[in-house]
Amino acid sequence: MVNGKFGCAVIGYGGMGGWHTQHLLKSDVFELAGIYDIKEERRALAEKNGIRAYATREELLADPRIELVTVATPNDSHEEIAVAALRAGKNVISEKPVTLSLDSLERMIAVAKACGKIFTVHQNRRFDVDYLAMKQLHDSGEIGEIIDLESRIHGSRGIPSDWRGKKAYGGGMLYDWGVHLIDQILQLTDEKIAYVYCTLENITNDEVDDGFRLEIVFESGKSALVEVGTLNFIAMPRFYLKCRKGTALIPDWRENTKIVKCKYWHESDVLPVETAAGLTKTMAPRDDVTTDTYEFERPASDVHDFYRNVCRAIEGLEPQLVTHAQVMRVLRLIEAAFKSAELGQRVRFE
Ligand code: NAD
Repeated sequence: MVNGKFGCAVIGYGGMGGWHTQHLLKSDVFELAGIYDIKEERRALAEKNGIRAYATREELLADPRIELVTVATPNDSHEEIAVAALRAGKNVISEKPVTLSLDSLERMIAVAKACGKIFTVHQNRRFDVDYLAMKQLHDSGEIGEIIDLESRIHGSRGIPSDWRGKKAYGGGMLYDWGVHLIDQILQLTDEKIAYVYCTLENITNDEVDDGFRLEIVFESGKSALVEVGTLNFIAMPRFYLKCRKGTALIPDWRENTKIVKCKYWHESDVLPVETAAGLTKTMAPRDDVTTDTYEFERPASDVHDFYRNVCRAIEGLEPQLVTHAQVMRVLRLIEAAFKSAELGQRVRFE
């Protein structure tokens, strides 16, 4: 304990390690003891920022005040670092993607169980307000049963030129953003998945996918399209949800959910609309006599609840929010997506 709180440390003081330390410095449940980064300049930067930098990983892991270690290094190194921390008697949060294969994840879970320590994954995007709005709407049944869902994230800067563009480090968008969006879908519904179909893009990078399109089809026939793009100068909406009684759309993470709900299904006399080269009644837009248009407000969210849950899980007061079974299912789905892209066909799942 440090100042009456559990001590914690971050390994990897890069972009995300910096984010973790900023949150942990304000934490009501953990006290940041320090960081370790393999690069001397990152350790020097931490010291400049008033954060203790341990000279070696061994020194950090030997500090008895540290209960929790957050691993925020490139994706290929999570297993080795997490296992070392667990064996040193620490609880561990791994950044996403937890690791690069199911075999590797099984080894990590086995060590965590043998050591009797909490081992979880930073699926922080479960706290994103756009996703939470979609989940609340879905769970409320307000616009009826879901038919299909589209979840997208589009950027226009290509894949970053750092380790994210390299296969050996576990680069690529399926591992990077895919793991978040897939985790969100699997949190939205626990229905069994029949198959997945995935295509990968290599537009700005030949080595790893710089975008992908993944279709997840559930046994019930519902489907989810997950799409990540890094060469989209006009972004498609973040979420689009088609349900029996209406449609919901979230343009992006700054905006409320727009809902159009059906009031009356039947219209006695639909006026045809004239398009450039013909007439159509089928595609004539609805008016406010038969539909209601309104907004669903963004729910409140505090991403530090992730750390609060880890603290309570360490104390044995509540189960960890991000479970081993959940991370295993997400990684299995990613493996199936890569397989589908390689074979160019649907891959059965569950
Ligand atoms: P980064 O390149 O900015 O930082 C990685 C840091 O790790 C670097 O400072 C590097 O020197 C250090 N490092 C590398 N190997 C190390 C080792 N063996 N021991 C100690 N330090 C080592 O990368 P990043 O963007 O911070 O990403 C780090 C992890 O965080 C990745 O797994 C990434 O997927 C994840 N991430 C998560 C989110 C999220 O929202 N959950 C966002 C960004 C990144």
